[in-house]
Amino acid sequence: MESKHSILEKYFGYTSFLPHQEEIIDAVLAQRDVLAVMATGGGKSLCYQLPALVFGGLTVVVSPLIALMKDQVDGLRANGIPAATINSSLGYGERRIIERVILEGRIRVLYVSPERAVQPFFLSLLKKADVRLIAIDEAHCISMWGHNFRPEYRRLRVLKERFPAVPVIALTATAIPAVQDDIAKQLALKNPARFVGSFNRTNLTYRVVPKTRYFPRLVRYLNEHRDDAGIIYCFSQKATEDLAEKLRGKGFSALPYHAGLPDAVRDEHQEAFSHGDVGIICATVAFGMGIDKPDVRFVIHTDLPKDLESYYQETGRAGRDGEPADCILFYSRGDYNTIRYLIEKECADATRKDAAYRKAGAMLDYCETTGCRRKFLLTYFGEAYPEERCGGCDRCETPVKVFDGTRAASMIIACISEVGERFGASYVADVLVGSKSARVRENGHDALPAYNSGEGYTRDQWLRFVQEMVRKGFITSTGGRYPVLVLNDRSREVVGGSLPVPLTEPEPAGVVAAETA
Ligand code: ADP
Ligand code: ZN
Repeated sequence: MESKHSILEKYFGYTSFLPHQEEIIDAVLAQRDVLAVMATGGGKSLCYQLPALVFGGLTVVVSPLIALMKDQVDGLRANGIPAATINSSLGYGERRIIERVILEGRIRVLYVSPERAVQPFFLSLLKKADVRLIAIDEAHCISMWGHNFRPEYRRLRVLKERFPAVPVIALTATAIPAVQDDIAKQLALKNPARFVGSFNRTNLTYRVVPKTRYFPRLVRYLNEHRDDAGIIYCFSQKATEDLAEKLRGKGFSALPYHAGLPDAVRDEHQEAFSHGDVGIICATVAFGMGIDKPDVRFVIHTDLPKDLESYYQETGRAGRDGEPADCILFYSRGDYNTIRYLIEKECADATRKDAAYRKAGAMLDYCETTGCRRKFLLTYFGEAYPEERCGGCDRCETPVKVFDGTRAASMIIACISEVGERFGASYVADVLVGSKSARVRENGHDALPAYNSGEGYTRDQWLRFVQEMVRKGFITSTGGRYPVLVLNDRSREVVGGSLPVPLTEPEPAGVVAAETA
């Protein structure tokens, strides 16, 4: 048997492993089930491709995207590794030929879609083949708690049932700890070796910028980065086209990219961007799956992403070459309505809706946090980040001013208590500023001591205080679809006068926060 190092050089042309690759490969070679979480670009493919060569026989790879499978197969073949894919784009004749060479043991790595992988006919074909390893790519799709649930992934457990002796490696770029557990459970992995790489992309700088007057700000940024290539993500297909056109009007080379364009046009635009013929691609999230342009210098979001997993993945396309790159998010709280609309439309059942709302809530918290953005992101993904400040985000570049907000905090706590811990943040802010809203009056809350007690701050400022208190744990939000504010032990300490509450100094009315872009 050839050693893994000689295979690494001979077939893949690398002289050393990337972080975690070797440990993961060793676990696979020891025939263990493995769960590997590594950032995009971390080199996940090698973790099953190299063992495939050591094991001989057949390695089956389940992957959700036909386009990606094709790239992988082409890449393997170019390295002299016999690989194939069986997918819906094949005709009957072609499929029969591939099936025959599989049974003859002449294919080392076989890519299939999750739908195909569980078909009885396909499973009986595999039974006759010499399967030595099963790899499940994009494994987070199996979990309802993940950000891209695909029901067909759920059935993949059948692979472990039919091939109990074959090791399974599950791979994903994003999985919070709960999703990791779910992946292991759903796939019926046996005592899996777990590897979680760092999510810290040290060369990326994170900024959140208010969305007011966003176009001039965007143009100003782009003007300062004339020679750089970047991706601007927009929510809608139409917005990508409008923005590309407006930018061309300002003398930039920009093209749109979205799923509604004819295939030929889309490919052309992607090629133009990859080859550097066009500097800016205005895209929906359809763009980026499988693009491998190393020198993307900025990723800008003009609209709020639906969750941090998406945001992390999309910004992860910046700076793959390791050089500095910017991730800028134009943020307006109003964008949350669009996300709410999406969630209501796309999530069929209550469990998924609730999960989606929690994720959207974390996305908002990221935008509104007064602390380090990187720490926030890493903490979200379950990674410890020992520093308080990273130096590579807007919050670390210009820290917010903090004042002793104990008095304001006590008023908020009193208000939450008076409305019976049954309402959310906007309602509490309404009561504090003495809103004339019908809901407040119908509930009789205009008679409470807290009603109109919040003089000195605007409704928006109260709202921010409330959110900050939730983030800092002085009060608790139940989260989910209709989050309700409740008091906790720390709230009671505040009331008792034993716990001061530092809050972010509000911006003077009318002035827009931190013009960093
Ligand atoms: P992922 O699937 O985790 O996003 P890939 O498997 O596509 O990552 O690998 C990302 C990039 O890293 C690819 O360009 C690949 O060729 C390269 N790569 C993988 N392993 C190594 C290695 N050991 N040394 C150098 N480059 C590597
Ligand atoms: Zn920071």
